[in-house]
Amino acid sequence: MPLRLYNTRTRAVEPLKPLEPDHVRVYVCGLTPSAEAHLGHARSFLFFDVLRRYLEHPRNGWRVTYVQNVTDIDDRSIATAQREGTTFDRVVARYYAAFKEAMRVLNVREPDVEPYATKYVPEIVEMIGQLIERGLAYATDDGVYYDVAAFPRYGALSGKNVDELLVGARIAENEHKHDPLDFALWKFAKPGEPQWASPWGSGRPGWHIECSAMSRALLGVPFDLHGGGYDLIFPHHENEIAQSEPLMDAPPMAEMWVHGGLLNFENRKMSKSLGNFEPLTDLLKRHDPFAIRLLFLQTGYQKPMNFTEESIAAAKSSLDKLVSVFKRAESAEIEPAGPGGTVEAPAAHRAALFAHLDNDMNTAGALGILHDLAGDLLRYDDPRVRDEGLSLMREVFGLFGIEAALDRERPVEFDEQFVERLRRRLGPELHPSTGSGQSLNGESPEAAIESVIAKRNEARKNKDFALGDRLRDALAAEGVALKDSKDGTTWTVAGA
Ligand SMILES: [Zn+2]
Repeated sequence: MPLRLYNTRTRAVEPLKPLEPDHVRVYVCGLTPSAEAHLGHARSFLFFDVLRRYLEHPRNGWRVTYVQNVTDIDDRSIATAQREGTTFDRVVARYYAAFKEAMRVLNVREPDVEPYATKYVPEIVEMIGQLIERGLAYATDDGVYYDVAAFPRYGALSGKNVDELLVGARIAENEHKHDPLDFALWKFAKPGEPQWASPWGSGRPGWHIECSAMSRALLGVPFDLHGGGYDLIFPHHENEIAQSEPLMDAPPMAEMWVHGGLLNFENRKMSKSLGNFEPLTDLLKRHDPFAIRLLFLQTGYQKPMNFTEESIAAAKSSLDKLVSVFKRAESAEIEPAGPGGTVEAPAAHRAALFAHLDNDMNTAGALGILHDLAGDLLRYDDPRVRDEGLSLMREVFGLFGIEAALDRERPVEFDEQFVERLRRRLGPELHPSTGSGQSLNGESPEAAIESVIAKRNEARKNKDFALGDRLRDALAAEGVALKDSKDGTTWTVAGA
């Protein structure tokens, strides 16, 4: 069975059939780098990275052109620039560089093309002109708007009903559009704002038209797959369709629309106002990027997901276990199967694993098989079979973008109760609290050890050597030895 994906447009799981032979053209809505990115922004890019790797994998063997845009002009980057006395492009460059670095750390491959909206103004202006010509857009004294009532299929992608949308919709005082659902294609510049020339007056593009114009210019329409987060279905993708399809001979603009689920943090949306905002760059300092990748793969890409410190610690220990088994099998360690224990051949694991991926990228199912394979890896006593198992594991790690984890030092193995035992040993008054008020609950063993070391350093700085020693002894009792040097404190685990 070929690769099948859930298509939001048809509301069905369908085989992906490239429009051009062996070439898949993909457009994914990219970042608006006008503020710091958080892990929620990364989820969809991590999924499309794995999908792209699978499209190119010999199993499918397609060439992929992957376009991911940069919305480099919007109200927020203009406001930030005005507040900081700088220009919008400097604001964008700063946040985008941080995002790119985070993507590099997370081993997300670079898009083939990364178009900046401001570099496609002529294409955008041309498209708006065509929409006005067809009677689908009109100019007012504050900009150019799309006339939603002129496009009868509006709402088809999201399943929204135009009449219901109209209830409660109002026109803001500063807007001059005819109908509350109409949206801006071009906004005339206010004094001091960045602007580009257009036949209707100088200004800047609206967000939605950018993706319509850039996908048409770079991939041509129709193309194979349009992706983005679930929150983009309405209105962004609905508006893209409304702008693109009336200008095409044979819609749809994209055969498949694929949407990734959203991410919550400790059961809430991450936001500055809720006080649970952590920039992606900070989060990546605390957590193994490959464990983050693994954590996302554990949940279906479409499902909403809840990120907790416990869940990332569990993903980290799961990753360490897989890597550790791989290393042991590589050095030909064998564990005899128990009585009645069945061992499956690598080929059987391979077939099961790819069947899961072909079924709408069921990465959770595929990971289950990967763990089964790891379970059998130490039981293959024939070296050729073991090598086959090892190379399958490496291949799947590559597909998931975590292959480099296999080339790291063998991880120290902590048992599952390590943090809990350490916490009990320390007692409440010794609990090392980090700046954000977290205690040792839900931390990875490595992070827990680092917290205790930080607390000990603080105690020693305050000349409380008795406390410092008690913290050191608690670690020692759990088999963790500390070594102090002028460069700081390092730790080792007895027997590792
Ligand atoms: Zn877009």
